Amino acid sequence: MKARAFSYFRAGTIDEALAAHADAGDDARFIAGGQSLVPALALRLQAPRILIDINHIDELRSVRREGEWLRLGALTRHCEMLTEPLVAEFAPLLRAAAPFVAHPAIRNRGTLGGSVALADPASEFPAMVLALDAEIEIAGPSGRRCVKASDFFIDLFETALAPGELLVAIRVPLFRSNQRIAFDELARRRGDYALVGCGMIATLDRDRIADISIALFSVGNVPTRARSVEAVLVGSSLDAGRIAAAQAALSADLAPADSDDVPAAMRVHLARVLLGRLLGRLGEVR
Ligand SMILES: Cc1cc2nc3c(=O)[nH]c(=O)nc-3n(C[C@H](O)[C@H](O)[C@H](O)COP(=O)(O)OP(=O)(O)OC[C@H]3O[C@@H](n4cnc5c(N)ncnc54)[C@H](O)[C@@H]3O)c2cc1C
Repeated sequence: MKARAFSYFRAGTIDEALAAHADAGDDARFIAGGQSLVPALALRLQAPRILIDINHIDELRSVRREGEWLRLGALTRHCEMLTEPLVAEFAPLLRAAAPFVAHPAIRNRGTLGGSVALADPASEFPAMVLALDAEIEIAGPSGRRCVKASDFFIDLFETALAPGELLVAIRVPLFRSNQRIAFDELARRRGDYALVGCGMIATLDRDRIADISIALFSVGNVPTRARSVEAVLVGSSLDAGRIAAAQAALSADLAPADSDDVPAAMRVHLARVLLGRLLGRLGEVR
């Protein structure tokens, strides 16, 4: 199959991109890395009249520290998550997730903004953005706004982005020396989308958990915070009994649907196993 014919506009600024989208209305799509959009065009799952290329907009680039935040431009490529020293130092959870995203060729082009804007529930970065309590900077025809990650993911492939709005950057709180992270996923083959994945960031007070944020992916229509599990863990140390209690609490946070290849009960089981492993690792790191 081939994509339907479309026109192409290379935007040089955010304003140019927004104006081009406003002119074309529902028939336009922004293109960033193209690693999800181009296959969708080829399969005619999407057939826009115009593609607006945002790859040449300088304001969407760069990773920099802004006060207590690390600001990652929407065009930050997945591969840069592995090489950018600021990400390793201040957003190690994103760094830990990056090797699990697809394959090197896709990571060379795919962007953080594209991944979060698409909001595939099986993707690593949307869930980690949720775990980090990130803020998402958006530009649209009526100006700029900022949305908390907890308000951004609404339903399957549906986000707080209105049609014609552009994701500009993602800001994550700076990682601190009393924090620990853990990330892993279970997939049939390395590089495949996960059957279930999980990432967490904990703030420690000596051997106790003062605060913890846990997000799972591939467990429903949207990336999911494990708030019942978090409540079980806060104030405790990570001994075997507490980890078992956390695993038991996970059923209250997840309600995956049966799919053709993975029954819901199996997905919950895998999530519980993964959660136990990650909490065990978190407990070992001091
Ligand atoms: C074989 C294969 C395996 C993959 N495996 C994984 C995987 O394991 N994990 C994973 O997370 N992903 C995976 N991906 C997807 C990949 O990570 C994509 O790069 C990512 O999902 C989208 O980023 P992109 O920059 O390529 O976006 P594009 O494909 O350019 O765009 C995707 C969508 O987001 C919109 N968009 C893009 N940027 C913006 C923006 N700044 N503001 C508003 N809207 C925007 C576009 O209009 C489009 O609707 C895989 C892809 C392939 C082809």
